[in-house]
Amino acid sequence: MHDIAIIGAGPAGLMAALGAARSGLRAALVEKRRDVSRITRACCQQLVMDEGYAGDTVSAGPGGISFQKAVFTVPYSGPLFAVTRKYYVSPGGHRICFDHGDGRPLAVQFDKGRLLKGLWNECAAAGVDLMPGMTAWNASDDGKAVEIQLTCSGRRSSISARKALLADGVNSRMAEALGMNRGRTHFVTTQCMVYTLEGVEDPEPQAMKSFMGGVYNSRAPIILYPHFGDPTRARMCVPRNKTEPARQVYEFARDKGALAPYMQQARIVKAAGCGLRAYSAMRQPGLGNALAIGDAAAFVEVETQGALMCGFHAAQAVLRELETRSGFEGYTRWWQRSFEFNGPDALRVAQGYALTPTYTDGELDYLFGLVEGETLPGSYSQYNTPKYMWNAILAHAERIAHERPRLLEKIGANMKLTINDTL
Ligand SMILES: Cc1cc2nc3c(=O)[nH]c(=O)nc-3n(C[C@H](O)[C@H](O)[C@H](O)COP(=O)(O)OP(=O)(O)OC[C@H]3O[C@@H](n4cnc5c(N)ncnc54)[C@H](O)[C@@H]3O)c2cc1C
Repeated sequence: MHDIAIIGAGPAGLMAALGAARSGLRAALVEKRRDVSRITRACCQQLVMDEGYAGDTVSAGPGGISFQKAVFTVPYSGPLFAVTRKYYVSPGGHRICFDHGDGRPLAVQFDKGRLLKGLWNECAAAGVDLMPGMTAWNASDDGKAVEIQLTCSGRRSSISARKALLADGVNSRMAEALGMNRGRTHFVTTQCMVYTLEGVEDPEPQAMKSFMGGVYNSRAPIILYPHFGDPTRARMCVPRNKTEPARQVYEFARDKGALAPYMQQARIVKAAGCGLRAYSAMRQPGLGNALAIGDAAAFVEVETQGALMCGFHAAQAVLRELETRSGFEGYTRWWQRSFEFNGPDALRVAQGYALTPTYTDGELDYLFGLVEGETLPGSYSQYNTPKYMWNAILAHAERIAHERPRLLEKIGANMKLTINDTL
């Protein structure tokens, strides 16, 4: 029997397996892919550089990806590219600019395949029992150990471990099998594509841009990213909408609104997709002998840096749980205080501050036009950016009250706040 079985070799599972093996635990790592360096699931592969984001602050350099608070470094020797500016763009082309103004990056792009492969090799060197090409399809916990049912090319087997870490990602089959999704709210099931494009005509290709508006038939923004330092390529993240698949939404984006001028010569050279079920985050990610980590326990995503942190803390938690039975409790406290989606205003930010479909395209043009020419703080955080944006817009509250009083009422009602609370 293993001390610990980890299901899923994404950033969370790999980091956990490495930490566990280095602490002397007998660790098995089960992964359905045969080669973790081949990234087939959509991911924009950017680190969020906001200070204190998800409870820590990351930096990336030749030595690897470092975490200031938890004090650890993940080996990484692949390319890095700093994104120092981002825009929110209204349907008519009005832009809100986010930039630190001193060259500090908002986000750093990295090669996720290289990151995962590096960790995989470290796990091998540390003695992790690596099980690629193996899918976990069921699990049970008899109170003493967790038994995981596996399948590989039609052949079935199982492994047992004293503790299990469920790191199988956003649609975690293992969390479902062990009954850990009970009590979670299911918000939406959706699909997302990340396209690599050539031929995009962008006068500022190294800045990231989020295009908003009903014109694209998309509820979520369509995001155009740089492709490392290569000005001939770009990446675009496109969600599906209620009725049409992402490819259809891409065609709206190509032909309409402020995006159309960028896209006249654009062609897709690569595509990666993913389906995702968005649940509210687990309040208690531990149950019996199992702990769900990374996206498996999150509201949509912890992102790569969050997943690495989950893995780092989970390895320590398992060690303590085996010794004193207090490890999962300590991990839960860290989980609850670190991630913004566990905080009290996360839903308000995600829903009340949302721009589409709440506001019409004309309203977005008017509101974005108010702050065009200003530079807002450089943030990539999906929780802080909307706050900065609305604070900047509402600094013009008197003008809005004068010119568009109904719109100001609508904003207040959506935020369930009085304007004075926000300012
Ligand atoms: C469109 C999109 C864009 C994103 N952009 C970014 C970004 O710019 N920056 C960022 O940091 N994050 C981004 N993310 C989020 C990021 O991809 C995840 O948060 C992160 O990879 C989570 O890591 P994880 O280890 O928890 O799960 P995952 O990375 O999902 O890893 C889970 C692993 O488990 C394996 N697995 C699943 N089921 C089984 C099973 N039954 N048996 C065996 N193995 C299994 C999978 O093959 C996979 O290797 C994005 C996500 C999406 C959807």
